[in-house]
Amino acid sequence: MSEQNDKKFLYGLDDEFTFSCDRTLPCFNTCCRDINIFLTPYDVLRMRKSLWMPSDEFLKTYTLAFLGDDGIPYVVLKMKEDQEKTCPFVGPEGCTIYNDRPWSCRMFPVFPTSSEEVEFLIEEKLSCHGFRSKSSTTVRQWKKNQNISQYDHMNEEYKKITLHDYFLNGNKLDPGKSKLVYSACYDLDAFKRFVFGTRFLEIYDIDEQTVKAIKNDDEELLNFAYRWVEFNLFSGGDLKLRDKEMDKLLRSNSEAAS
Ligand code: SF4
Ligand code: SF4
Repeated sequence: MSEQNDKKFLYGLDDEFTFSCDRTLPCFNTCCRDINIFLTPYDVLRMRKSLWMPSDEFLKTYTLAFLGDDGIPYVVLKMKEDQEKTCPFVGPEGCTIYNDRPWSCRMFPVFPTSSEEVEFLIEEKLSCHGFRSKSSTTVRQWKKNQNISQYDHMNEEYKKITLHDYFLNGNKLDPGKSKLVYSACYDLDAFKRFVFGTRFLEIYDIDEQTVKAIKNDDEELLNFAYRWVEFNLFSGGDLKLRDKEMDKLLRSNSEAAS
């Protein structure tokens, strides 16, 4: 909740801001409650692996999902049902999944104002003692210290779907396609069963190296899921069907529609 004297400022990537957070501060842990934390597919992958949980169990236990106006599924972290709506992962020593905490927890208190990440909003909350620190850093350095680059890389691929021209032109996903995005990108174990437990590899033309990579590495699998979604939603990307005639037909239909 915003207090009257909370202040908001905009920063560029190389602008300095003053902030530091550690467990000696009186506000320690108080911010990990009653917040909306949107989770990307990569956040879900990191968090549930940190907890050694299958993707469906993690999604059911710790998240809520809803559809945007464009039919894109959004997933948020479900806070506990206690009075303070505490994050399920906060413990006396801080975040219990710290190494795999989601992107927005890493970025805090810095939030990009757009997907281009040119400008960043920082809300200096009176309740957050971190802003009383004498230690300053740039947004660029903050991101580096928070190990954001791998998250940015994986999220970039997902943005190719969510920020696709298809949506900018006012189109909306039908329920079947919304489910396809959710299942492939968020419920990655289900997607893996789909790839390796059906005729998937007979239908799609996937080279052996990729098959091996997606079998053994969930980050590779997630990147592959993005490609598959892009193909199914927009007939775009570099994924190909083994049936060349059908592949050509799908792509020509999509070009005609765009
Ligand atoms: S300094 Fe801010 S971010 Fe850190 S624990 Fe306190 S309220 Fe949370
Ligand atoms: S995931 Fe960790 S850092 Fe993020 S709100 Fe929960 S306890 Fe805090």
